[in-house]
Amino acid sequence: MYLDYAASAPLHPALRSKLSELWGHEWGNASSLHQHGRRARMVLEDARERVAAHLGAKVEEVVWTSGATEANNLAVLGWMRLQPKGAHCLVSAVEHPSVWEAAESLRAEGYAMDPLPVDEHGQVRLDLLERLKRPETALISVMAVNNEVGTIQPLEELKRLKGRARLHVDAVQAAWTGWPSLEGVDMLSLSAHKLGGPVGCGCLFLRQGLRVHPILIGGAQEDRRRAGTSNPLGALALAEAMDLQASLTGHGEALRTWVGELELQLAEIPGARLWGAEAPRSPHISSWSFEDVLAEPLLVRLDMEGVSASSGSACSSHSIEPSRILLAMGASPSAARGLIRFSFGYGTRRDELERLAQLMPVLVSRVRGG
Ligand code: PMP
Repeated sequence: MYLDYAASAPLHPALRSKLSELWGHEWGNASSLHQHGRRARMVLEDARERVAAHLGAKVEEVVWTSGATEANNLAVLGWMRLQPKGAHCLVSAVEHPSVWEAAESLRAEGYAMDPLPVDEHGQVRLDLLERLKRPETALISVMAVNNEVGTIQPLEELKRLKGRARLHVDAVQAAWTGWPSLEGVDMLSLSAHKLGGPVGCGCLFLRQGLRVHPILIGGAQEDRRRAGTSNPLGALALAEAMDLQASLTGHGEALRTWVGELELQLAEIPGARLWGAEAPRSPHISSWSFEDVLAEPLLVRLDMEGVSASSGSACSSHSIEPSRILLAMGASPSAARGLIRFSFGYGTRRDELERLAQLMPVLVSRVRGG
């Protein structure tokens, strides 16, 4: 039972056959002038048009990257490094490490960075924005949907309040809430493997007229915004994955119902806490902690039952450090060490969630020694 879609969704069967069919002949270098290169270029550019259409962007606003980590680095580092030293950025306290650590690293380069705090549900404190914003604030980075707790951020209000600062949105987990409107957004990151595509392909939407200092240099690809041989099949995979996602609206509604049922049952477990319960939340993430229960022993027991879940962000789950996200939401360190995230996607079935609802009380009580 795979309940870790927010870490990576299984490669979609439709995509698997499409990609393996093309793998054999579309291997050309999209920068080459011969027929193999031209064909690869066509795949790449066709995918760019399709991704741009899904987002409501112009084709030249889509910059291919190796995934969202790179897209986020490019947005934060690439944009800030073109600003005068002393420029300031505001980053929500619950950003993915690829935004958070990039922004923190800017301090050593002579830039200023402040966290934008969140409330106990994980939503950014817009009431603090005015106080934290400075005349030299060049970037505000706030994700659309949080990857650990699923909270949806108030992007529309943020757009109204952001002033002259540019806005970057990490939209990697926004598949089930609709891609954010690009109006008022300057940069936006996406990744294919959260949607049933393969790992290693994504893009940055970069508003026309804006430049970023490239992170990867040594080639003229992507209009000198990102060097390196292009990945046409990766680009195609992102376009296909976005098509598939767009065809799944009914499933999103079903997930909301089934996850709602699951949550009612899990809430009955003594000492259970659902994170982000009172904020608008994406239907694909349900994150819990159970009093006096650490994440690891519970995840091990779930794994023994054939259930793959996670302790939050996979990128840090090899250590059971308390979740930075839960701490930012005001959780105690022990609750923050107990975060269990279930996340769902195109292949999730109701009977899986029913089985999870039955298993959890038993496993939690076993971990507690009952
Ligand atoms: N941002 C968010 C919100 C994510 O969930 C992830 C994946 N953990 C990333 C960025 C990084 O994406 P990628 O795996 O494509 O580098």
